[in-house]
Amino acid sequence: MKRRHFVTGMAAAGAAACSQDADMGAIGEGARPQETFEWNMVTAWPPGLPGLGVGVENLARRIERASNGRLRIKVYAGGELVPALEVLDAVSRGTVQMGHDSAYYHRGKLPAAQFFTTVPFGQTVHEINAWMYYGGGLELWQEMYGEKFNVIPFPAGNTGVQMAGWFNKEINSVVDLPGLKMRIPGVGGEVMQRAGVSQITVDASEIFTSLQTGVIDAAEWVGPYNDISLGLHTVARYYYYPGWHEMGPQLQCTINRDAWMSLPEDLQEIVATVCQAINTDMMADYTWGNAVALETIKNDPNIELRGLPDDVLRLLKSLSEEVIEEMAAENEWTARIKASFDEAQDKLIPYHEISELAYMNARNL
Ligand code: CA
Repeated sequence: MKRRHFVTGMAAAGAAACSQDADMGAIGEGARPQETFEWNMVTAWPPGLPGLGVGVENLARRIERASNGRLRIKVYAGGELVPALEVLDAVSRGTVQMGHDSAYYHRGKLPAAQFFTTVPFGQTVHEINAWMYYGGGLELWQEMYGEKFNVIPFPAGNTGVQMAGWFNKEINSVVDLPGLKMRIPGVGGEVMQRAGVSQITVDASEIFTSLQTGVIDAAEWVGPYNDISLGLHTVARYYYYPGWHEMGPQLQCTINRDAWMSLPEDLQEIVATVCQAINTDMMADYTWGNAVALETIKNDPNIELRGLPDDVLRLLKSLSEEVIEEMAAENEWTARIKASFDEAQDKLIPYHEISELAYMNARNL
C-alpha cells in the first residue's frame, strides 16, 4: 500500500469509474478480450536529445512492453505536433493523452508549478524524490494539476545538478555581474536580473549562435552531457559551476485525467511504475553522460572550468530567497506548496548535512 501511495487516490477513482472493466485486468485474464489503447505523447525535447529525448522514447517503449502491447504510445518531439512550450496545454485539452516537459515552463499560468521542477538553492535529486514520494509533494502536485488542468502529473526524470553556465567574461566577484548579458530562464533569470544581469531570452536552438556572435556573454543550459551536444564548449571560454538555479530539476510526465480514467487499474499501475523507473534511469544516464563529457571538457585547453566565487553565490542565495518569498505571497496555491516544500527541507537538510555532505567532504580529505 505504501509503495503505491502516490497513485492510490487516482487509481481508486479510476477503478470505480471503470468498474465494468474490472475483469479486464490481470485478475480477469482470459475472461474477456483485453482492450488496447493507442496514445500520443507530445514532448518539449529535440528528437534523440541525450538524456531527455532518449528518456521519453524509453518511457513509451517500456510501457508498451510491460503492458504486452495493450498501451502503445507514439512519441512526438518538441514542435512536431504542438509547440514545445504548449505540451501541458495539449494534454489538458485532451488533444493528446500524454506529455513530457518541465513544470516551470508553465509558471506564467501557475507560479506554484516552479516548485515541481526546481527553485534556486532548492532541492537536490534525493531531496525532491523524498518530498515527492514520501513527503506529500506528489499528492499536492496531483491535486493542483487535477484542479487546474484536469491532468495527472508524475515525476519522470531529473538532470541532477546542472552547471552555472558558459561565460565569455570572467566572474571574479559580484561587481562582474552588472551589465552581463545572459541567457538564463525562469526564476534563476529573475534572480540574476536583481543582481544587475540583463536576462536575454534565447531558445535552446539559438544558444550556440548567440554566444558565438556576442549577442549574449553567457548562457546556462544543462550540463556537460547536453551542452557538448549543442557545441557550447566551442563558443565560450569559462565553464562555471555549480547550477545554483537548477540543482535537481525534475521532469514531468503528464496524463489527461479522462484518458487516465479510461485505463484499467493494472495499466494505470504500469504507467505509474514505468514513470518511476524512468525517473531513476534518466538520472543515472545524466550522471554517467555528464561524467564522460566532463573528461572531454577538462582535456580541452581552450576551456577553463571554474567555481563561482563565494560572494557571488551568497548574493544569489539571498536574492533567491527574496524572489521565492514574493512568489509565495502571490497566491494560495504557491503558499501551500511552499509550506510543504519548506517543511520537507527542514527535515531533509539537517539529515543531508551529516550524510551526503559529510561523506562528500570526508572523501575529499
Ligand atoms: Ca538549465
